[in-house]
Amino acid sequence: MGRGEFKRRKTWRHTPKESSASRNSARLGARPLVPLFMSFDSNTNHTDAISLVAFCQQWPFAALTSLAARAQLQAARLHDLASKSNGALRVIKYREDVVELLEKRRDNQKMVGGFLGIEGAHALDGDFSNVDRLYEYGFRVIGPSHFFDNELAGSAHGVERYGLTEFGKKCIRRMEELGIFVDLAHASQAVISDVLAMATRPVVVTHGGVQGFCNTSRTLSDDQLRAIAKTGGVVGIAYFEHCTCGQTVNEIALSIKYAIDLIGAKHVALGSDYDGSVVVPFDTTQLIQLTDALLKLNISKEDIRLVMGESTIQLLRDYLPSRIPGAVRV
Ligand SMILES: [Zn+2]
Repeated sequence: MGRGEFKRRKTWRHTPKESSASRNSARLGARPLVPLFMSFDSNTNHTDAISLVAFCQQWPFAALTSLAARAQLQAARLHDLASKSNGALRVIKYREDVVELLEKRRDNQKMVGGFLGIEGAHALDGDFSNVDRLYEYGFRVIGPSHFFDNELAGSAHGVERYGLTEFGKKCIRRMEELGIFVDLAHASQAVISDVLAMATRPVVVTHGGVQGFCNTSRTLSDDQLRAIAKTGGVVGIAYFEHCTCGQTVNEIALSIKYAIDLIGAKHVALGSDYDGSVVVPFDTTQLIQLTDALLKLNISKEDIRLVMGESTIQLLRDYLPSRIPGAVRV
């Protein structure tokens, strides 16, 4: 999503919308507002590419003026897609959905699960009651900020890059109560510290990298990685250059190895970022390239299985809300 990533390269440029993927499930990210000409360095919300899309596609009027309505619309589209898929796509909202998906996949390996995420809690429109509405729409992972500072939190790519505001802290508490994961991808350094200081549930980074291998504004220090693991959370390693400092599968594998060595494979996952705006070296159908690269680095098959999906499955199975009211962690 940085300027450099828009250059044409002889690498795979993906178009589907999934932002982080394993073999059987993917986080499907909604983006209610995206600045035009955004960069990794400094952005505001003074321009908006999504408004142009909304206008051209003649979205409902509410979705032209309300970011929460946009999130609702994008969620509804996924639910609609799932309902027309003859069972091929299942929207994962509860821990029981994960168990059922895994059982059904024994007979039909083509089934996939998708869980809804939002990049940037400006989707709340500054209204606290919208946290519950987003939950009802099916969102289960929310990043406090995306490419610009908002009323909840500063962004790693914002202007002031402040920490959580009081409104932000209130929303984070409510997200935790509901069982929505807090996603620190794109968060400012101050927000990462603030969230980790108050977290009572696992915190995730859906798509990022490790500073020990690649030191950029989108990667995490060793202390941050350890603190996320301590919450029980998972860090997804993204595939693009600003997270891996390279353009090949090997840099992704080396980033994953660094994370495994530091915090253990059960806290590491694939964070691809197949969002259509970044350049990545392979498509998910070619995931075997990454498996091969990890094996060549002498990473055990057990650890590779964790990174390839089991870490995420365990997290969702244990920490998504239950359909059964009052159920405790399984
Ligand atoms: Zn992102």
